[in-house]
Amino acid sequence: MALAFDEFGRPFIIIREQEQKSRLRGLEAQKSNISAGKAVARILRTSLGPKGMDKMLQSPDGDVTITNDGATILEQMDVDNQIAKLMVELSRSQDYEIGDGTTGVVVLAGGLLEQAEKLLERGIHPIRVAEGYETASRIAVEHLERISHKFEFDTTNIEPLVRTCMTTLSSKIVNRCKRTLAEIAVKAVMAVADLERKDVNLDLIKIEGKVGGKLEDTELIYGILVDKDMSHPQMPKRIVDANIAILTCPFEPPKPKTKHKVDIDTVEKFQTLRHQEQKYFDDMVQKCKDVGATLVICQWGFDDEANHLLMHRNLPAVRWVGGVELELIAIATGGRIVPRFQELTPEKLGKAGVVREKSFGTTKDRMLYIEQCANSRAVTIFIRGGNKMMIEETKRSIHDALCVARNLIRNNSIVYGGGSAEISCSVAVESTADRYPGVEQYAIRAFADALDAVPMALAENSGLQPIETLSAVKAQQIKENDPCCGIDCNDVGTNNMREQDVFETLIGKQQQILLATQVVKMILKIDDVISSAEY
Ligand code: ADP
Repeated sequence: MALAFDEFGRPFIIIREQEQKSRLRGLEAQKSNISAGKAVARILRTSLGPKGMDKMLQSPDGDVTITNDGATILEQMDVDNQIAKLMVELSRSQDYEIGDGTTGVVVLAGGLLEQAEKLLERGIHPIRVAEGYETASRIAVEHLERISHKFEFDTTNIEPLVRTCMTTLSSKIVNRCKRTLAEIAVKAVMAVADLERKDVNLDLIKIEGKVGGKLEDTELIYGILVDKDMSHPQMPKRIVDANIAILTCPFEPPKPKTKHKVDIDTVEKFQTLRHQEQKYFDDMVQKCKDVGATLVICQWGFDDEANHLLMHRNLPAVRWVGGVELELIAIATGGRIVPRFQELTPEKLGKAGVVREKSFGTTKDRMLYIEQCANSRAVTIFIRGGNKMMIEETKRSIHDALCVARNLIRNNSIVYGGGSAEISCSVAVESTADRYPGVEQYAIRAFADALDAVPMALAENSGLQPIETLSAVKAQQIKENDPCCGIDCNDVGTNNMREQDVFETLIGKQQQILLATQVVKMILKIDDVISSAEY
């Protein structure tokens, strides 16, 4: 089995056995499957933790992605092996359910597969291993519940949430600004959260990005951001208590089409036509004013003359706004999209506390902020950064932080990070193994060893001696009976994760263990791989 790279630099896995044979059975099938799974885990292993490495991935059309998010790496890797695909799915399900811990779950599955391989070599039946793993995972999940802590937060005290989100961000490229970004993420979640029902609709949080500025300039907008500007530079840059007409119909005088014939042979006729056009548009503007609109947002454009007139009549307008954005504006401001100009009525206007235009730097880049909207709590996180790759990675990192905050609102239990929870579970699982007679106990012990894969990877990635560090921390945990001891990745001087404020959500950690066990069990139960080698 080998890991190779194609011409675009994307890694793929070659399983030699499968090249020669179209069918693998029994132990051979399990071993081959295990190696495929392990290969995927090996790729992600170096990305785990605050000192984890990033991966650079190039898509077939040349787009480059730099990330250390497990789900994204696997998503873009284009693996061909079916078992490797299962690992990709594993990471995806963790991302879907929890949103964070996508690297950790694959590393853990890798550890479980590695230990399973050893057991199979010793002649233990895969079903026994699978059963042992199942029992052990239940013990681990219950143990996590026991060592978890509840923490209190409310709308006035969001600090605990911020600190948990900071742990998530500390392993990302954006860790330089983790405090700012964590605060933004928590405030955004709090803005859309329903604390009574303990639910958060993340769809109400839009993440926008624009190249330029610094990461520190990333901001949270309580409203909607549109990548457009006022149609005329002399229109007001700020409108308070805006009544917005949202038009999908043309907002200009009807133009004579080329198939129409207009005979203009005198200057007077031309003047009349011009006046009529002007009057027509003037009436449209008047109609907008009559219904009380103070801002017009149009899907279509209007020409310079119309633009000038709008400025003159003091009716600010925005043109060429996309359909999706129009819909969002309509929902947020409580307005209705008007497809025919005659249908414009006062009730159809959207309402927003402030609409302002902001320009960036010396460039002509301007954006329109629609804030304090009438109807919706929708917020926008506006990311700034030096280049597109940075913005994309920031989007992914913020997504993780948002998910962590949401999970904490759903369930405010936490466990300590830095591998401490895994070590504690490993000790707990190991100590219960003796209670199980028969072969199962070997599998339970193997599970305990597999849990060590996470702290080992964390130590290795931080340049520490993995085995020495792990055994020292484990010994300390047992001696002090304290589940907070983890790997001091950032060389802070203490391995107490409580002091370091490194937390993870309880449900996230439990999900990691459950999902990894599930996938490994599934892989172990496959004893026949039939591939159609005919073509
Ligand atoms: P994932 O995609 O699984 O979230 P990360 O690369 O974000 O992977 O790494 C998360 C791991 O790093 C967790 O086990 C977490 O406890 C650990 N971690 C994060 N920050 C620190 C820190 N400051 N010190 C020690 N461990 C940390």
